[in-house]
Amino acid sequence: MKVTLLGTGTSQGVPVIGCSCEVCRSVDYRDKRLRVSVHLQVGGKSIIIDSGPDFRQQVLRERIRTLDALVFTHEHKDHTAGLDDIRAYNFSQHKDMPLYGEERVLEQLKREFAYIFSGIQYPGIPRVELHPITEEPFEIEGIPFIPIRVKHYKLPVLGYRVGDFTYITDANYISESEKEKVRGSKAIVLNALRQEPHISHFSLQEAIELLEDLQPERAYLTHISHLLGLHREVELTLPDFIRLGYDGLQIEV
Ligand SMILES: [Zn+2]
Ligand SMILES: [Zn+2]
Ligand SMILES: [Zn+2]
Repeated sequence: MKVTLLGTGTSQGVPVIGCSCEVCRSVDYRDKRLRVSVHLQVGGKSIIIDSGPDFRQQVLRERIRTLDALVFTHEHKDHTAGLDDIRAYNFSQHKDMPLYGEERVLEQLKREFAYIFSGIQYPGIPRVELHPITEEPFEIEGIPFIPIRVKHYKLPVLGYRVGDFTYITDANYISESEKEKVRGSKAIVLNALRQEPHISHFSLQEAIELLEDLQPERAYLTHISHLLGLHREVELTLPDFIRLGYDGLQIEV
């Protein structure tokens, strides 16, 4: 399986509009973070988790020519705003795009993208096929997905384990029983917002402690704010098996 980090930034991205801190002024390409999303190439299939506002730019940058499904972690705008651009795949693949998410998340998509679901098939609008999921394992074209329940302040969010890879974003809590589903993963991508604690995201220290408990061979941090610090400097402070993610990073699992 090949995993590509399409975006590793928090909801505002990095740089932040109007900010002139050293991270936002950095010329290091690893300090330029689009909104979080990840591309999985597994079993000959192409699957993306979350379509934030930078979706179009991300799939163009990574030359993602085919897309078999889009999976959502939760309904926040930084994870859904780019949905309209799946139209390109409708046109090139001549089929509706399968969308996977919890009922609550799909209902929110219906409200925010009402024109897609109005029943009036205006020419050129996105065409989607909804697949409600729960905490139970499911398959996308034969690829097994294990949902991992996490909490994002009070909001229930899903992470996903696919084979030996686990992706968890927008969390600040995971129960012991859900940790058991993650254990044994060779690679984990986990959110770490900033140095200071936050109400709905793991801080850097909390993410490190969780990863030390889960013990993957490798881990990468994502959903990063400009407040975390410069990529180059923060990396030096991390245990060897944990790296900061950056946009475009590819992981073979
Ligand atoms: Zn987010
Ligand atoms: Zn800044
Ligand atoms: Zn969120």
